[in-house]
Amino acid sequence: MQLYNKLSAEERAHLIDEAGKDRLTISFYQYYKIENPQILRNHLFIEWDNLEVLGRTYVSNEGINAQISVPAENLAALKEQLDSISFLKDCRLNIAIEQDNKSFLKLKVKVRDKIVADGLNDDTFDVTNIGIHLDAEGFNKLLEDPNTVCVDMRNHYESEIGHFKTAVTPDVDTFRDSLDIIEEDLKDHKEDKNLLMYCTGGIRCEKASAYYKHKGFKNVFQLEGGIIEYTRQVKEQELENKFIGKNFVFDHRRSERITEDVIANCHQCGEPCDMHVNCANEACHLLFIQCEKCSKKMETCCSIECKEIIQLPFEEQKELRKGIPNSNKIFKKGRSEVLKYKK
Ligand SMILES: [Zn+2]
Ligand SMILES: [Zn+2]
Repeated sequence: MQLYNKLSAEERAHLIDEAGKDRLTISFYQYYKIENPQILRNHLFIEWDNLEVLGRTYVSNEGINAQISVPAENLAALKEQLDSISFLKDCRLNIAIEQDNKSFLKLKVKVRDKIVADGLNDDTFDVTNIGIHLDAEGFNKLLEDPNTVCVDMRNHYESEIGHFKTAVTPDVDTFRDSLDIIEEDLKDHKEDKNLLMYCTGGIRCEKASAYYKHKGFKNVFQLEGGIIEYTRQVKEQELENKFIGKNFVFDHRRSERITEDVIANCHQCGEPCDMHVNCANEACHLLFIQCEKCSKKMETCCSIECKEIIQLPFEEQKELRKGIPNSNKIFKKGRSEVLKYKK
């Protein structure tokens, strides 16, 4: 029985083209005490491989967090499969706004300590004692309340290209850092202000809202389904859209455009731009914003140094990489001194 992905990204991309099927990019999560994550992991891998699911999923003792793509024609079968798992029955599936058949090229289901790297010790508080869930309409309403502080629970490189108009966007690299910053900022208002939170798909706010309630905040609210679900509801119900720019996502698409506003700048020349790229030097792979002009000039590199490295023969590049810790992570935090216009 096959329990692991065997195809390379290129082979998979080719197969997707050949199949010519439209795929849907989907995310979902559920906090739930899973006794044996490895068993669930293997079960999901086998079932999903059959359904031609691709993507990245984490399973842990605290639940499941899935970012996947599936052929549109298999969506009903996937739903049925998820419904057969008791704690995933009727779980909300966030379906991406902008579709790309190649949003994922591998099926990876991994057992992890946590489903979101939150840097928290779970034993200290009750993660099921969460805030009040709001839909798009309720969120808009509370956003207008002068007594509300709206906080973006994502990292700096995500909020940089898009966020709710009046939101506080902490300049942080990790979820853990933003928890502390927000708590410090609001320490005198734990009882009198509405703490209104949002993130990409809602999962980070589940944890954050429980954390803040544990810390004594009295009025804790969160956007259910995050920006993805908000956008869907705004369209469907013709509500006012209070989000501007793009929604950063964790697959090959990198972002979904929500409005035409470009609120960020090229990190190299400062021109308005909200296109993320990864530095073409595999050993660097820095995530940053680069306009087309700079991309051409710099051959999609973050620095002159990286540009010089990619001119070298492949074997020589490999030699240079030896002994350097693998930084080849798609979403390496986008900070570097070489980026003149990174705020
Ligand atoms: Zn530029
Ligand atoms: Zn670089």
